[in-house]
Amino acid sequence: MRSAADLDVAGRRVLVRSDLNVPLDGTRITDDGRIVASLPLLQDLLARGARVVVTAHLGRPKGGPDPALSLAPVAARLAQLLGRPVPLAADVAGPASRALVEGLSDGELVLLENVRFEAAETSKDAAERGELAGRLAALADLYVDDAFGAVHRRHASVYDVAQLLPHAAGPLVVAEVAVLDRLTTDPERPYAVVLGGSKVSDKLKVIEALLPTVDTLLVGGGMCFTFLAAQGHGVGSSLLESDQLEVCRVFLETGKVVLPVDVVAATAFSADAEHGVVAADAIPPDRMGLDIGPESVALFTRSLAGARTVFWNGPMGVFELAPYAEGTRGVAEAVASLTATGALTVVGGGDSAAAVRALGIEESRFTHISTGGGASLEKLEGKLLPGIEVLA
Ligand code: ADP
Ligand code: MG
Repeated sequence: MRSAADLDVAGRRVLVRSDLNVPLDGTRITDDGRIVASLPLLQDLLARGARVVVTAHLGRPKGGPDPALSLAPVAARLAQLLGRPVPLAADVAGPASRALVEGLSDGELVLLENVRFEAAETSKDAAERGELAGRLAALADLYVDDAFGAVHRRHASVYDVAQLLPHAAGPLVVAEVAVLDRLTTDPERPYAVVLGGSKVSDKLKVIEALLPTVDTLLVGGGMCFTFLAAQGHGVGSSLLESDQLEVCRVFLETGKVVLPVDVVAATAFSADAEHGVVAADAIPPDRMGLDIGPESVALFTRSLAGARTVFWNGPMGVFELAPYAEGTRGVAEAVASLTATGALTVVGGGDSAAAVRALGIEESRFTHISTGGGASLEKLEGKLLPGIEVLA
């Protein structure tokens, strides 16, 4: 994979695919981690005299422009962080974009509007994607992909456009791939994986791929209830994928899976709901498990002790609501303290990374915090990532 540092960019137009997909509350950015992570490449290109054209997506617009998902708040934050103006084109790769790019001088940058405002970006039809990719490519001389969070997508701005321009990987993509390669090729043992979060059926596939290679798999978050149910316990109104019970039973037979022994169970999905710690095998029928309990944090901490490689994806509970954040905090602390013992510790997943920051845990206490949840999981599953393949 060629890196951006190998390209001669002075005076040339460089199309950069960044991952600027930040969580928003209205127009307020609640976690700017991905914008911050995108800065090194942009600053480097600008310092080397490139004319930088940034394309990125935000959220999941329904195949057309949606003012609520405009990149305007991102442009404003990016301008603050770069300390220079960041003009936002009113379209993705149309007349407004062409006009802005034409006006660029060396060492200046523009941001194109949310690339998913064009349905072609995510289309399954290669010709539709190709048409958009052609318009994007016409805006630049070179292409650099630094959007690790999108490399598992066969999208126009990730996959098709790379085939139309001389291309390279940005530093974020290079770093992510290097760390994930360390997890997949001969990881130092013991190797422990902690999984949580809410995308249960997606992550069961990841478990299947990981179980043969890991020594211990700790399961918390919304996923643990399908495992507890597979052991024959009632889980009340907790998240449950009842068609996956047999799959979970097979996983449990490996003897590598560690489950919570207690959970914080609430009467409703709300911070004000009545809640308390109950044994994992005695969740009342009218309650839902929204976090792992303190005994589980202690158990998970003991299970992780001595690990030399740790991958953690998915919050242990609904950390966004204070009463259900302690499980995630406890596991984050346990993983972070292993970094200090020389272990390789990797956090993957948009919400997991946001949880680390929201809980005020120093990011430097982990070896690596991946910006791409789905992408890092697919890489760990051993899948080929289209956005990486195309950069070869
Ligand atoms: P990531 O983005 O790190 O891969 P996911 O997107 O899979 O993680 O899941 C994150 C979400 O999972 C969080 O919003 C969190 O509130 C939710 N979650 C965690 N535990 C539970 C639970 N017990 N019940 C419901 N939702 C949960
Ligand atoms: Mg998520």
